[in-house]
Parts: sequence; C-alpha cells; structure tokens
Amino acid sequence: MEKTFVIIKPCSLQRGLVGEILSRFEKKGLKIVALKMYRFTKEKCAEHYSHLVSKPFYPIIEKSMMAAPVILVAFEGVDAVEVVRQMTGSTNGRKALPGTVRGDLCMSHQENVIHASDSIENAQAELARFFTAEDFFEYDSPLLSYLYAEDE
Ligand code: ADP
Repeated sequence: MEKTFVIIKPCSLQRGLVGEILSRFEKKGLKIVALKMYRFTKEKCAEHYSHLVSKPFYPIIEKSMMAAPVILVAFEGVDAVEVVRQMTGSTNGRKALPGTVRGDLCMSHQENVIHASDSIENAQAELARFFTAEDFFEYDSPLLSYLYAEDE
C-alpha cells in the first residue's frame, strides 16, 4: 500500500495541535507506520527545501522549521499521497479551504502547521531522508475490510 510523509511543524507543537492533526488523519483511515520527534538542522532543512533555498523568504522557512522540534509521520493507505495532500489544503493557510488541516488550523503562509509530500516520488525520497528501515512498523489492521472494499 502507498506511503506518504507528513511533518507536523514547530508551530503546531507549540500550539498544542499535534493530537488534533494526528487525529484527523487517523479518523480518515490512514495508518501510522512510522512516527518520531526530530529537530531540524540547517543542513537537513536546506536539503528538504532545496527547491526554495534561493528564494528571498528561505531564511524565514529555516528559522521557523528550527524554532522547536517537529513530529515526523509516515501514513499508509490507498492513494495516501493524494488523500493527505488534499486534506492538507493550499500552502497559504488564509487561502486554504475550510475543512482542510491548514484551512481550519492556521492563518499563515509560513506557519502553516504541516508539510505533506506532493507526489509519490517525493514521498519516497522524503521518507528515505528522515526515516531508516527500522523506523517502520508492520502490523495487522483488523478493520481494513471496513475501511476499503475488496477491490480497492
Ligand atoms: P507546500 O508546503 O504547500 O508543499 P511549498 O513546497 O511551495 O508548499 O513551500 C514549502 C514551505 O515553504 C511552505 O509550506 C511554507 O511553509 C513555506 N513557503 C512557501 N512559499 C512561501 C512564501 N511565499 N512565503 C512564506 N513562506 C512560504
């Protein structure tokens, strides 16, 4: 089954939103298969946001991502990358639709509560960037037949 990657950002940890955010994805039916607390270094931040390092606002991203620890999560499910991305909402929290994580929980372009992988390819690269094979757990999901039909 497909895996995707989420970072619960420092702003969420500070605002006490970790449980709320995890709960939304859990209730949707996504399975937590890896989870850990992590503190960004400058090097890892530049690697993760390499597509934005040259932007004038990159120093703000770096400061924000290193302000406190983050929570790293791998979720598993059918079409997990697309489902989590849709639930995340637009980058700017003020423009993200109500019902999405960003639309319901933040007012900012930068302090936008979570990162979520935007493609299957990026999800694989990001999971490999932050997790090792030992970080992943395989376990039975007894409710699987209630979450999905046989042909899904
Ligand atoms: P997303 O997180 O929605 O995939 P991007 O990959 O474009 O969006 O940007 C990564 C992160 O960089 C955003 O989540 C946000 O925290 C920050 N960011 C992007 N663009 C801006 C901007 N114009 N101003 C401030 N922060 C930004």
